Amino acid sequence: MHQITLIPGDGIGPSIVDAAVSVIEATGVKIQWDRQLAGMAAVEKHADPLPEETIESIRRNRICFKGPLTTPVGGGYRSVNVTLRQTFNLYANVRPAISFEGTSTPFQNVNLVTVRENTEGLYAGIEHFIKVDAEKLGAESIAIVTKKGSERIIEYAFQYARKTQRKKVTLVHKANILKCTSGLFLEVGREIAKGYPEIEFEDKIVDACSMQLVMKPDVFDVVVTTNLFGDILSDLAAGLIGGLGLTAGANIGTDAALFEAVHGSAPDIADLGIANPTAMILAGAMMLEHIGELDAARKIERAVRKVIRDGRIVTPDLNKNSSYGTQHMAEAIIRELIEER
Ligand code: NAD
Repeated sequence: MHQITLIPGDGIGPSIVDAAVSVIEATGVKIQWDRQLAGMAAVEKHADPLPEETIESIRRNRICFKGPLTTPVGGGYRSVNVTLRQTFNLYANVRPAISFEGTSTPFQNVNLVTVRENTEGLYAGIEHFIKVDAEKLGAESIAIVTKKGSERIIEYAFQYARKTQRKKVTLVHKANILKCTSGLFLEVGREIAKGYPEIEFEDKIVDACSMQLVMKPDVFDVVVTTNLFGDILSDLAAGLIGGLGLTAGANIGTDAALFEAVHGSAPDIADLGIANPTAMILAGAMMLEHIGELDAARKIERAVRKVIRDGRIVTPDLNKNSSYGTQHMAEAIIRELIEER
């Protein structure tokens, strides 16, 4: 029996998390869910968007399945996502982008995974205003790239490639201009690549890489990069396969791992029952893979893909003529799963 912390989240969170939990349970994997609050639901009950109880539960279980959270505006609340990332040292953000048959996107042959360093780079938060001269105000931001942080994420990317039988790792950088920070990241990558002779290694400059991603996305396999480039390229990759509603993400750390949809709480459709549960369900599949339930993970992926390919019982974002909602789509996926069992 696996123990997992479950955070339903805000807005569309509870409905897509419910849908994902019912799909996960239909695989037969036994999970004891430890339900905890975070985000607006926690503010209402505890006046704190991330109560200590929730942190303790994740510390105990080391695995968390989390719905999207609304970041409260004002009130001086810190971002829950940032606090979770720091508390559990969630250094690797892993996002697969694999085309879905049955969606209208320019490409049908995307099959790549971005591995983004999540704790350093330009997002280290070292930023301040400076006085350039008597009249001019400026600002500067410092990017932190450490050898240890680079080794950790690049090693993770290679290990991931090996484990998932992927053939190539592309390291994305801007070492031609940012010779120290991006240069160090590239140098570490070249060293680590020597330990994985069976995996092809290449490096690409971020601007050229962006162009190739939208012209020939099929040449990419695993992409590893620093925080800012990873933030942008992972959303770009999500766009290539039909958007955020279809994309799941894992945040892997030294002390815990957290699985979620990459989209937010979608307040504009929160009460309509039409949120696409795909990203959350696929986050569930990534979580099952992480805890060693590979068979169940693959079954979920196949069932989701079949329902989307079929195109009838899907949410309106995937088929504008559809009158089906979140629950119907989840039930269709469960029917596929049961048929396969
Ligand atoms: P969003 O991702 O919630 O919504 C953007 C657009 O995409 C909206 O039109 C929404 O209806 C649509 N959309 C998103 N998910 C969908 C789904 N599953 N099915 C169908 N349509 C979907 O982004 P936002 O509106 O900028 O953010 C809303 C809130 O979510 C903010 O408070 C933001 O801080 C938060 N947020 C949280 C996370 C997280 O918890 N990981 C991530 C992003 C944003």
